[in-house]
Amino acid sequence: MTRHLKSVNEQAEVDSAAIPPEFARCRTFGHAWDFTTVTKKGNELIQGLRCMRCETERFTTINARTGDSQGNSYSYAEGYQRKGMGAMTPRERSALRLAEVKRHMGAVQRHLRKQGKA
Ligand SMILES: [Zn+2]
Repeated sequence: MTRHLKSVNEQAEVDSAAIPPEFARCRTFGHAWDFTTVTKKGNELIQGLRCMRCETERFTTINARTGDSQGNSYSYAEGYQRKGMGAMTPRERSALRLAEVKRHMGAVQRHLRKQGKA
């Protein structure tokens, strides 16, 4: 068991190094969308959203009568996409998730130390 955990940890360090830290939370939790624009185009509404963390933009085409989504297009923040590497694999996502939770635990420890509780 210990051996398995060690190898997963080592893998996390390798894989998370490939993801710029400013994108690690969005890659782990998904984007944090906020409203930008809404434009009307015939019978469709185009809803614009921007991620509050990484500034990726999403445009969702919505049927103005039914509300059905007709698809999304994205404008990614510079450096968000991994050129030539495609989407992250489940294993890569797990490694990044592990790196992020470790970073989170470190932040909690620093907070507790600052308050004199650890
Ligand atoms: Zn984002």
